[in-house]
Amino acid sequence: MDFQTAKQQDETYLIHSYSRFPVLLTKGKGAAVQDDTGKAYIDFTSGIGVNALGFCDDGWIAAVTNQLNTLQHTSNLYYTEPCIRAAKLLCEKSGMQKVFFGNSGAEANEGVIKAARKYSFLKYGEGRSKILALVNSFHGRTMATLSATGQDVYHNYFFPFVDGFVFANANDTADTLAKMTEDVCAVMLETVQGEGGVVPLDRAYVQAVAAACKQKDILLIVDEVQTGIGRTGTFFSYEQFGIQPDLVSCAKGLGGGLPIGAVLFGEKTETVFGAGDHGSTFGGNPVVCAGAVHILETIDDAFLAEVQKKGAYLRGRIEAMPHVQSVAGLGMMLGIQLDVDAKPVIHTLLEAGLLVLSAKTKIRLLPPLTISQDELDKGLSILENTLQAL
Ligand SMILES: *Cc1c(COP(=O)(O)O)cnc(C)c1O
Repeated sequence: MDFQTAKQQDETYLIHSYSRFPVLLTKGKGAAVQDDTGKAYIDFTSGIGVNALGFCDDGWIAAVTNQLNTLQHTSNLYYTEPCIRAAKLLCEKSGMQKVFFGNSGAEANEGVIKAARKYSFLKYGEGRSKILALVNSFHGRTMATLSATGQDVYHNYFFPFVDGFVFANANDTADTLAKMTEDVCAVMLETVQGEGGVVPLDRAYVQAVAAACKQKDILLIVDEVQTGIGRTGTFFSYEQFGIQPDLVSCAKGLGGGLPIGAVLFGEKTETVFGAGDHGSTFGGNPVVCAGAVHILETIDDAFLAEVQKKGAYLRGRIEAMPHVQSVAGLGMMLGIQLDVDAKPVIHTLLEAGLLVLSAKTKIRLLPPLTISQDELDKGLSILENTLQAL
């Protein structure tokens, strides 16, 4: 299929809920991908932080296809090994106690919301069900996770939204603590607001919120859907804030390209769900979990040190480029504020052979964590040349 056919048939047969770039991608390896004409691109997007090991990583393909040829699905009524191994690795790497598998970030966030409310209901009864989320957050597209998302643009058309979400200003300790009232069961935050424009929270703010949560038995939920699985240079980003959450959601990078979401439960919450409280037909699927096991086994301390090194290198190079006002973020999750409108620049970069993302007014970079020095330098020189020519 060529691009014109793809565009025309997409318009005919698909709902127009995405504004796509005018490119038909056909195959990739590592951080290199090509379109139907054979034109090559360097990938600074990883899907959207999904392809942690890049396109078509050999080890990941072997893990997935081996499982695919063995047992593809059983339902959660039976034990299967890949899901148990993935859960064990997630617990060992995070200090969390237990795992529930679903299929996406939004679904993981549905899980943390339900778990927080049930924890509070069991201990304190009705009337303590509010979740305090942050202004400018993003938690997903389902009804509850849209309701938890602190951006007005997402709160149109679909009324009625789910009740029981309140919002505090990110990095405003006084505002947040004041809103941790007796009817609140949990605080939910992203350590770096991704869709909100790559906005990192302050360490002191996160620690103050975590301390207040502990004192009031309000659960601390960290949404690691974008920041997790090595993206920020530690396995989970919360490690860099010196906190241990009660509930964690993760997804994007965990499957390496296959759909997966996970809820991680801490000591307070590990016994909250009993049989029948929560479930998912596809959750914990053996093929997807076999891929996740490979990702989790690959991301060790040496791998994370490389992510930190590459993140610092990217940041340093970009900060020195023309039209760059600031670079924010952690590890290999970076947001570039230009002194010009980012949108046309993103299209120029595409034409020049570099895939990047946007987040609010910024250019957002989420390169594959395994990107080589050569691919990094190729992508950076396209960025530099494009900015120089503006
Ligand atoms: C992408 C994202 C989600 C939603 O994940 P889906 O897999 O699209 O449902 C939730 N929270 C954060 C922080 C995200 O970046």
